[in-house]
Amino acid sequence: MAAKNSLHRERDTIEKMIRLYCRSKHHPEQALCRECRDLFSYASERLGKCRFGSKKPTCGQCTVHCYKPAMREKVRMVMRYAGPRMIFTHPVDAIRHLIQTRRPPAQ
Ligand SMILES: [Zn+2]
Repeated sequence: MAAKNSLHRERDTIEKMIRLYCRSKHHPEQALCRECRDLFSYASERLGKCRFGSKKPTCGQCTVHCYKPAMREKVRMVMRYAGPRMIFTHPVDAIRHLIQTRRPPAQ
């Protein structure tokens, strides 16, 4: 199922980005600190409810800003930090993310 795969991939990418950000910024004892765990579960929940389904653009490019402002700001910080660094740690995900970000959102 295309829809499921696409959402799963986006969730996977976001998780990697949050982990990367958290590890460098918050030095958590576990994989993620509490704040970043909350952010990730919030992001997953939003993704699951995304009305675009399989046609979903990446969230940075999305026309429906479904994140509440505080979470949106956090996710933007994570992406700004982790985005360029993903090229080295997870090149395939990073490049796919860049390509998808350039593609205009399907309406
Ligand atoms: Zn953290």
